[in-house]
Amino acid sequence: MNKEQRQVPFYKHSIGDLDLNSVLKSPFLTSGPRTREFEECFAKRYGLPFALGFTSWTSAAFLVLKAWGIGEGDEVIVPSMTFIATANVALHCSASVVFCDSDPLTGNLDLNHLKSLISPKTKAVIPVHLYGQMCDMKAIHELTATREIKILEDCAHCVEGTREGYLPGKWSNAACFSFYATKNLTCGEGGAAVTADEDLLKQLKLLRLHGMSTSAADRYEKTYRHWDMEILGYKANMNDLQAALLLQQLPRLESLLERRERHCQLYDRRFEKSGVERPVVLPNSLSARHLYTIWVPPEKRDNLILFLQEKGVGVAVNFRAVHTLTYYRNYLKQVGKKADCPVAERIGSSTITLPLYPDLTSDDINYVCDQVLAGLAEL
Ligand SMILES: *Cc1c(COP(=O)(O)O)cnc(C)c1O
Repeated sequence: MNKEQRQVPFYKHSIGDLDLNSVLKSPFLTSGPRTREFEECFAKRYGLPFALGFTSWTSAAFLVLKAWGIGEGDEVIVPSMTFIATANVALHCSASVVFCDSDPLTGNLDLNHLKSLISPKTKAVIPVHLYGQMCDMKAIHELTATREIKILEDCAHCVEGTREGYLPGKWSNAACFSFYATKNLTCGEGGAAVTADEDLLKQLKLLRLHGMSTSAADRYEKTYRHWDMEILGYKANMNDLQAALLLQQLPRLESLLERRERHCQLYDRRFEKSGVERPVVLPNSLSARHLYTIWVPPEKRDNLILFLQEKGVGVAVNFRAVHTLTYYRNYLKQVGKKADCPVAERIGSSTITLPLYPDLTSDDINYVCDQVLAGLAEL
């Protein structure tokens, strides 16, 4: 018996063939003309005046919070059902993290819980568009509009999504994106922030480059002028190699999404028939279809992961509830608080992410579904 087993990797990027020679011919491989071109195209996508490229979502979001002056004594509300970065950036600013529970249908922020968590100390909310489906940004805007609470959208999963026809950035003060290796739009590592707020833009430009008054490109391209250091900044600027990779994908985002959408529909049809639970995409939403997740009985979840891996299926868990991880358990103990997030806990102990990317085939998907159903029956 040496029948070759099918292998369905968890993710494959869609960058394709790309000639980087023209980028390599430019003398400096830091932020330059390609980064600026990417920023212009990216801002235009969202109908906003400004976009800035960063080294990651994490650096972009951290610097947005910094620019808003968020620090000690301030509270930042984040969902527990997210990647740790969403919570970590608040702690990096010395602010407190307050965990919000999830809506049981979509996994996105539970708005009633969010409302109950808002206090005079609340300075920012970071809604996460989980798996690519946008939160109800209008409602979140309404909850926070009368107070001085900033909204930072975590769009790490949601480059292409819309809700009631509106895009990320419309009902928030800033939206941050990730171009990490497994995201829909990727350059290995990278991030961006979009905003309509020119003051924020100016602060971010300083913060991402040591507080220097001119950028590298300006320093070399224009007549020499002394630069000054205005504030204590960080080092988090995107470079032209990253931007070249991203620019190559931008025109294809919608066609890549269409292919993932078809894959999701095939998954849905198979799992619908077999009664496998999964998050719902609301009829008013166009999901960016970043991750395809299922919810299985918690007592079977970990064994099913191993089972799928043995069958050559790449899987992940997105996510275990952040407040249940060791650091945040200790953190909550230390600050004498509890996270009241039973739905996030339930999702966190029952979820498995299955392969999803444009190059999957129907045979791949049917194979993955067969293995999931076999595993569920057997375990
Ligand atoms: C990937 C991810 C991030 C972090 O992105 P980086 O670019 O790796 O910093 C933040 N939030 C969510 C929801 C993510 O999935």
